[in-house]
Amino acid sequence: MLEIINKAENTHDLEKSELVALLSYNEFDEEIFKAADRVRKKYVGDEVHLRGLIEFTNICKRNCLYCGLRRDNKNLSRYRLTEEEIINFASKAVSYGYKTLVLQGGEDDYFTKERLINILKEIKKLDVAVTLSIGERPYEEYKAFKEAGGDRFLIRIETTDKNLYEDLDPGMSHDERKRCLKDLKELGYEVGTGSLVGLPNQTIDSLAEDILFFKSIDADMVGIGPFIPNEDTPLSKEAGGTFDMARKVMALTRLLLPDSNIPATTAMETLNKNGRLLALQSGANVVMPNVTEGEYRKLYALYPGKICTGDTPAHCRGCITGKIKSINRTIGEDKGFRKSHR
Ligand code: SAH
Ligand code: SF4
Repeated sequence: MLEIINKAENTHDLEKSELVALLSYNEFDEEIFKAADRVRKKYVGDEVHLRGLIEFTNICKRNCLYCGLRRDNKNLSRYRLTEEEIINFASKAVSYGYKTLVLQGGEDDYFTKERLINILKEIKKLDVAVTLSIGERPYEEYKAFKEAGGDRFLIRIETTDKNLYEDLDPGMSHDERKRCLKDLKELGYEVGTGSLVGLPNQTIDSLAEDILFFKSIDADMVGIGPFIPNEDTPLSKEAGGTFDMARKVMALTRLLLPDSNIPATTAMETLNKNGRLLALQSGANVVMPNVTEGEYRKLYALYPGKICTGDTPAHCRGCITGKIKSINRTIGEDKGFRKSHR
């Protein structure tokens, strides 16, 4: 096992069987985390890039079985920020020092191409990088958003197991998901993807495939999070993922994609109160604090137990900065593009 970890640290290449071995046994997890931490330091340094997350709509036409925003969830009050609110949250976030803003939401058709272009153009006046995380759209719309100033796009593959994906995301196609990733790359976005760890019927084998998939598309960003069962969904009774397994998939992703941007995800912190710091010490170099204001934070309920829903964006900024400094890391001062793209 130590030999495999060594190989990963030095060549950034592993066979599937080697990944399966590392994922199957946990006696060597600490060694994996330390190796991922060294690779992170060597390739992307000590800077942690902060991305301000604006959760601009919790309305979604999709019905993903794991997600609290799914259209059949009638227990959630729905909201949609106005254009003015979005711009207002964006300018406040910039005043707190964010250099990247992420616009994330359910697949809400109210936000047409034209509306999103207007929003993007306004936000780009603030001199920030903008990431979109709005799900599947046609090529032509992705192209228009790029031209309006979109820099990055996050769309998780969720799982590379096609059958599992199509069972969990009724009406959605795994090929279409991959089409989106391919189009986004071609259009010149920095492309983020990622997966959920601990989905029902997900195998170790398919987690290994997930990591190899991130490498095969040379993902610029990879967000890995544990699946956390939501009471208001059909998967409410499932066991869900563990912090340790999500952390390990993330660390192995760092070993194979040494210069990618890898976030310490909010879902990790939900399962472990030091989750984000532990992730930052096991390969991660990005944190995405919430900059949505007021009651909306609670209503963006992908999964239960979401952290900091009662806090203000200003508070979160201070809190995470303190935590990052406490582990002798610094806050990135620039827009935080992937190192090889700067
Ligand atoms: N609608 C967009 C973006 C919002 S969902 C999209 O689906 O791409 C953002 C991410 O939340 C999803 O990619 C999914 O991986 C994650 N998510 C949804 N439900 C979750 C749950 N129960 N536990 C953990 N993460 C979840
Ligand atoms: Fe909608 Fe995204 Fe949730 Fe699926 S994961 S229901 S697309 S918000």
